[in-house]
Amino acid sequence: MPPTVASDPRRALPAVERLAAAVRAQAADLPAWAVTAGVRAALAEARERASAGPAAPPPALAELGSAALLRARRLARSSPTRVVNATGVALHTNLGRALLAPPAAAAAALAATRYGDLELDLETGRRGDRLDAVASKLALLAGAEAALAVNNNAGALVLAVQALAGGREVLVSRGELIEIGGSFRLPEMIEAAGARLVEVGTTNRTHLEDYRRAIGPDTALLLKVHRSNFEVRGFTADVELPALAAVARERGLPLLEDLGSAALVDLRGAGLPEESYAPARLRLGADLVCFSGDKLFGGPQAGIVVGRADLVATLRRHPLARALRLDKMTLAALDWTAAALLSGETDAVPVLRMLREPLEAVARRAQRLAEQIEPIARAGHLQAGLQQTCVPVGGGALPGFELPSWSLALQPDAFGAGELAERLRRAPIPVITRVTGGAVLLDARTLLDDDVEAVAVALGVALAEIASPVTPEPPEASD
Ligand SMILES: *Cc1c(COP(=O)(O)O)cnc(C)c1O
Repeated sequence: MPPTVASDPRRALPAVERLAAAVRAQAADLPAWAVTAGVRAALAEARERASAGPAAPPPALAELGSAALLRARRLARSSPTRVVNATGVALHTNLGRALLAPPAAAAAALAATRYGDLELDLETGRRGDRLDAVASKLALLAGAEAALAVNNNAGALVLAVQALAGGREVLVSRGELIEIGGSFRLPEMIEAAGARLVEVGTTNRTHLEDYRRAIGPDTALLLKVHRSNFEVRGFTADVELPALAAVARERGLPLLEDLGSAALVDLRGAGLPEESYAPARLRLGADLVCFSGDKLFGGPQAGIVVGRADLVATLRRHPLARALRLDKMTLAALDWTAAALLSGETDAVPVLRMLREPLEAVARRAQRLAEQIEPIARAGHLQAGLQQTCVPVGGGALPGFELPSWSLALQPDAFGAGELAERLRRAPIPVITRVTGGAVLLDARTLLDDDVEAVAVALGVALAEIASPVTPEPPEASD
């Protein structure tokens, strides 16, 4: 050990082993690696503070122990961790967007734990293509000549722009230069894909003439982009797909539409607007459309491209397609989902079931939730009552559109709704809610059957904590 100055406050810190023993005594369930790493990090932080600031007393063992325990717990927690989505937002971006159907997840698990014919043609014994089977199903579903799927929709867009317009120009209306969550900005994506963006029209109005004038000898692609998270109202003009398609044909240019969130089943019957139906966009003249696998499609994270066979072939041959390719688990889940949709088993796909569920059925689930939760709420001095609500679809799907739903509203008398929401979020199985008008809303549209139990447990824990707040341990003398 290097010699240290006698007054060095760092010498007052406990040894790793001693602090680790203190942490283990409080949480025997934590794995040793997490305890050691948590302890090292807490000690490093204390050491840094001691050497930076003058003469603050060294932290007590208990204080260091809680810091280490917190870090160890955070490290050991599985990620992502299960939560209850009580927001009513089916495609909640922060909560993982679309849920997989359990059989789709089972197909992914089988693909992961067994060998499969991923790249083997069982008839000829020769090398096969991992994408062929799922691409055929997707093309059938979309009524398209061909399809392909890559890692996500951002990847699909980058691949399409690079393969069709690398080193050349891509035309996009200024009204469609979107930024969506998670660092997706269209101009930057196009640049990263090695093409030059040519902006067309103005923010609120773009006319066909604007496109015509912008097309030059270097133009390689017309790109139309779905405004996933905003609307333009007032003095506006957009070029509709058929008109744009006519110009694209006239000039011999491909037209790609980035739909973001698109369904491959017609959801109009469920009162959802039509704009998101991919086959209709192809019929209206798009040469290719791309969209996410885990938004309205209802499958795993993926970027799906459907449309003209020659263009899809160009994309599939491009080296970037290899860099963006899907893994076998995702392929299996996607394949199952596509097959279910082809069979018309729409309600087997969780997101589509949630969005299509009649309001009366949502109301019945809210009623069951209320029956379980109200006694716990009353015992904890919360007012509880059912309330009709409106919820967005989420995931950049159908901006401005809201579905009717039912929520159980919980209103604390003695403390803020924000505090209750926070405590529910810190429960053993966290419950994610919305807070409006001084109440915590538990929305029934996105609850799964066994979520009700988890909500009951979370509320019990939250109210017990509020009834008897955790008192800080008395500081322990450190040596
Ligand atoms: C969501 C979205 C994307 C990105 O899709 P990911 O699958 O998240 O990569 C791209 N474009 C639009 C219009 C979107 O809505």
